[in-house]
Amino acid sequence: MQRIVVFTGAGISAESGLKTFRDAGGLWENHRVEEVASPEAWQENPELVLQFYNERRRQAQAAQPNAAHLALAQLERRFDVQIITQNVDDLHERAGSTNILHLHGELGKARSTLDGRLVYNVAAVTKNGVDIVLGDQCELGSQLRPHIVWFGEIVPDIRRASRLCEKADFFVVIGTSMLVHPAASLIHYVPQAAAKVLIDPDIPVVNVPNLYSIREKATIGVVRMVEQLLK
Ligand code: NAD
Repeated sequence: MQRIVVFTGAGISAESGLKTFRDAGGLWENHRVEEVASPEAWQENPELVLQFYNERRRQAQAAQPNAAHLALAQLERRFDVQIITQNVDDLHERAGSTNILHLHGELGKARSTLDGRLVYNVAAVTKNGVDIVLGDQCELGSQLRPHIVWFGEIVPDIRRASRLCEKADFFVVIGTSMLVHPAASLIHYVPQAAAKVLIDPDIPVVNVPNLYSIREKATIGVVRMVEQLLK
């Protein structure tokens, strides 16, 4: 069975109402990224960081998968599909995709600040089932933090993701500015002979062989591509 690896970024969730930050002039929901999404921010103002991610979690829970997420789930009828997403929402899961690697973490999870291997569902370990607050602790008694890879932190699953890319017959990139590394370098692990498609209204600059661009929003471009592939 042909293996399709799909690499998604914030752009695929834009039409579900979740803002990307490049489109908003480098601000993410009115915050400078370093102010809310870095280890330094966590050291300086953990309450603000928790509040920022609590808001993102509530927003993501209220959002619905859009036609692009739903179309990708349909691809599994005919292909071996692996999604590698930079997104921290769960819209691919809720659309029905089954093989999803979250490179930058998940809003729905919390982890220990003492031992990063201790990861929990936010719904199971917080008082109201939604928000992580100061005082919420892991089983070792340390503060819980969002299960998010912040800027400046290593990406624990990058090797696993690069191995998945090495096995791609077809590689699809949707809604990412390709500015956040090392995630943006994954395309260089895809075999040269494999076809690669970028779907984005503002096509990022990428230099690899066999690359095709579809300059469309995700709900148009992805739906059209999936219709072609399932024909
Ligand atoms: P980015 O904000 O850097 O780039 C967004 C890309 O999406 C741009 O290329 C833009 O042209 C494109 N885009 C905008 N609207 C689109 C649409 N309707 N259809 C298709 N493409 C569209 O996003 P990034 O490259 O993913 O990097 C941002 C980082 O911030 C990621 O690591 C991610 O973890 C995080 N983030 C996540 C979410 C989320 O989970 N929904 C939202 C914002 C940021």
